[in-house]
Amino acid sequence: MNRLLTTAAGLAIAGTRELARLVVPVCCPGCGRDDVRWCDECEAPWWEPPYRSEENAPRLHRLGDVPLAVWSIVDLEGSPQLMIEAWKDAHRRDLDSFFQAAMTRAAGDVAVDVTTAHRIAVVPLPARRASTRRRGVDLPGMLATACARRWRDHGADAVMVPALTMRRGESRGLSARERWRGAQQSMRLTRQVDPSRAVVLVDDVMTTGATLAAARDRLEAAGTVVCAGLTLATAPMRSKSPAVGIGWESEADELSDTFDRRGGD
Ligand SMILES: [Zn+2]
Repeated sequence: MNRLLTTAAGLAIAGTRELARLVVPVCCPGCGRDDVRWCDECEAPWWEPPYRSEENAPRLHRLGDVPLAVWSIVDLEGSPQLMIEAWKDAHRRDLDSFFQAAMTRAAGDVAVDVTTAHRIAVVPLPARRASTRRRGVDLPGMLATACARRWRDHGADAVMVPALTMRRGESRGLSARERWRGAQQSMRLTRQVDPSRAVVLVDDVMTTGATLAAARDRLEAAGTVVCAGLTLATAPMRSKSPAVGIGWESEADELSDTFDRRGGD
């Protein structure tokens, strides 16, 4: 009897939640327009062809290095930025499908530019464990899965390999050089990538490029070839303060978690 009551109570609570969801007004995360999940104007930039964004990432390259080609769909500002924020930190899980679709389409657009290799490993940049726990979903992993699926449809042998994790580190009070080293040290390769596969790195947002660079270094030190990066958005050069440009902390803690902090833990 008690069990029956508990079940009934559980169903009632679940029903109330469903009802609450129905009556909570939705609005476009890009402009605030009421009663739409997103509006046509705010959606439009996400269907533009991806552009080469590596020039906007001062920490992506070392002197004498062959620059890593990176494609992004939009600049991280205005309505696209608000949409990314809503997705990352305002629990707009309904945007998962939106950004998966945008990434799928972008991956199709740049497929032949990214690599002509048949065997591809799509490696997501690691999100912090706490962020993934709170969101209930690994956003870069989700995007990387969408890319791999799209390239398989394209005929490639593409797999998603979550090969990296990011250890939390304290970089406050360190010099730029020490911070850079910190980014390098906090990135861990936790799963081997088959060296016969060309690696494409995938992330939601690129700001300074320090995290992408550290990921590339880890993977290449293990004998794989990283051929490109693909992100939803890139912070435009003009929006980068000097403080952002010098620290890995900005990339690891603010890039992925700027929004987290604002969203409140
Ligand atoms: Zn809108």
